[in-house]
Amino acid sequence: MHTGRALETERAVCMSSMTDREAESNHRHPAWCDERECSANPEAIAGKEPMSNWGRHQSGRRELAFGMYAVITGAAAPWPTEVYVQLYTRFGGDPVLELHGPDAGPFAAALSAVVSEALVDDGAVPA
Ligand SMILES: [Zn+2]
Repeated sequence: MHTGRALETERAVCMSSMTDREAESNHRHPAWCDERECSANPEAIAGKEPMSNWGRHQSGRRELAFGMYAVITGAAAPWPTEVYVQLYTRFGGDPVLELHGPDAGPFAAALSAVVSEALVDDGAVPA
């Protein structure tokens, strides 16, 4: 796992071998990105400003149930970056859960299995 500083150093090295035009043309919004929610800043990326100024791609709300919703997000960069799924309650604020993209599917499947187990009424336990 990268620390923030190690990752920034690695990416700074990567950026130094890329021209401004290449950096800008390599930047694109993922298919799930809603540009109204997105804070990606291609000029900051192309201008080799600190990564903290590059912004994040973000989807719109994906309604789940009971007012809960999910948002897809990932750092803006001229290369593929990690994607996260964040879960929020209807009250907003900070996400109650953030899953690394590849972990979200197995998590949802495991949760579904727990829900299925909870909903089985085989009569084994007296009410
Ligand atoms: Zn975007």
